[in-house]
Amino acid sequence: MARYTDASCRLCRREGDKLFLKGERCYTNKCALSRRQTVPGQHGQGRRKISEYGLQLREKQKAKRFYGVLESQFRLTFDRAARMDGKAGENLLILLETRMDNVIYRLGLGSSRAQARQMVTHGHFLVNGKKIDIPSVCLKAGDVITVRASSRKSPQFESKASARPVPAWLSFDEETMTGKVVQIPSREDVDLEVKETLIVELYSK
Ligand code: SF4
Repeated sequence: MARYTDASCRLCRREGDKLFLKGERCYTNKCALSRRQTVPGQHGQGRRKISEYGLQLREKQKAKRFYGVLESQFRLTFDRAARMDGKAGENLLILLETRMDNVIYRLGLGSSRAQARQMVTHGHFLVNGKKIDIPSVCLKAGDVITVRASSRKSPQFESKASARPVPAWLSFDEETMTGKVVQIPSREDVDLEVKETLIVELYSK
């Protein structure tokens, strides 16, 4: 599968916002964005007037990069969101938020979404007792996520990878290494500062 392999911090500088792509480093003063806020590249410091299309594109790129999803999968997720009841933009964010790799990250089992995705593909987790190794699977309310017994011996599961608080729509029992989707998140539960209506406008052209 195609993957972005350039420096992650460039993406944050490009979007002018923290995308939390590098694990715990993002929460320290080593964060590249707190030291250098210019857009990367030769013309990054110049003043530019941004078009309406440019604004829409930036919001889409920000959401896509935040969740570490490639364009084709992001578009497929949007198409699914548009077919659901309610607002397409909000549905899109909720679908992205309930992806298996994001849930593992939110439970604090991976220090970044990229690491969480790798842990999922390595088959470390069960959902409702069944092995799930597809990061893009969307979880439902009531789903129970457990670390496989054979994986618990691994040093990466000796304790939670992160001290980040678990969001209210999820719960986690550190003793049994079991997480649960308490409820489907609402737009307010998604902490990404993005204007999802601009993404809808972009894809509606
Ligand atoms: Fe982005 Fe800062 Fe993390 Fe780098 S360290 S990925 S700039 S949030």
